[in-house]
Amino acid sequence: MTDLTNPIYNNEDAARKHFEASRWPDGPICPHCGSVNNAHEMTGKSTRAGVYKCRDCREQFTAMIGTLFERSHIPLHKWLLALHLLTSSKKGMSAHQLYRMLGFGSYRTAWFMAMRIRYSYRDLFPEEKGPLGGAGKIVEADDTVIGGKERNKHRNKRKAENRTGGSMGKEIVFSLVERGGKIRSQHVASISASTLRPILKAQIDAASSLMTDMGGANRILGDGFARHEMVNHSIDEYVRGDAYTNAVEGYFATLKRGIYGTYHHVSPQYLKRYLAEFDFRYNERSALGVEDTERAAKALKGVVGKRLTYRQPSGRKENRDQA
Ligand SMILES: [Zn+2]
Repeated sequence: MTDLTNPIYNNEDAARKHFEASRWPDGPICPHCGSVNNAHEMTGKSTRAGVYKCRDCREQFTAMIGTLFERSHIPLHKWLLALHLLTSSKKGMSAHQLYRMLGFGSYRTAWFMAMRIRYSYRDLFPEEKGPLGGAGKIVEADDTVIGGKERNKHRNKRKAENRTGGSMGKEIVFSLVERGGKIRSQHVASISASTLRPILKAQIDAASSLMTDMGGANRILGDGFARHEMVNHSIDEYVRGDAYTNAVEGYFATLKRGIYGTYHHVSPQYLKRYLAEFDFRYNERSALGVEDTERAAKALKGVVGKRLTYRQPSGRKENRDQA
């Protein structure tokens, strides 16, 4: 559970120091000349807190430069609180609830913050870009449909419909999970060998065992892997030895509860960002030894290099609007 009494969620100075420690574990890094730990914090009445002056190039800088927080009118402690709330809620958190819990801004501000935080999950761990699986490891692959009235339909029926071409408002998600490890989800245009094969080839080590069901293009996707087992869901076969797709299906269940129960509607153009959010929480889950505080700390690393580039609501103005 989030400890909301932590000063980093209530006090701007504590929030700034927390962020500086996260971004600069070895001391301040000058964004102008790259010098490390050779700057001093400026003091004096005319200088705001957190401005550093580089002893090498004499330029000034703050920890916010080049991050999601640069030029944001939203106080940093509110950003940290939003980040913690979003990363610790298993099914996500709606902008309405986020707005209530932040006690700040407006619904629109909360929506904007959540969208930016989702964006910051992108390329968060470049060192984990390599393929999933490997010799002796198992990777499960499956697809599901988000949108339309899918949640009311029987699994076999909706899959059959989707695989004969699909229709408007039904978005296809294709996910790969290394059993006992990490997930990667993508929003794909269709279920066919030509869309899925390149993903499998790039994302899964060929020495892995691949587990799928028998639907769609799966029969021909196993080529090139050490082993490919399929379970036949249409005859109610779900487990045969180590052949099953329970991990990826468990992820889809959480994803759907979140998207239908928390977010109600997700526009196709933003689906990728929601997938990044659910993937992040799955990959940094308690079962893998990651608890709430550490998960938020990891997410905070993602704000670097994600500077705001489009119009954002001003926290100050929106407060005034509400008064
Ligand atoms: Zn410098």
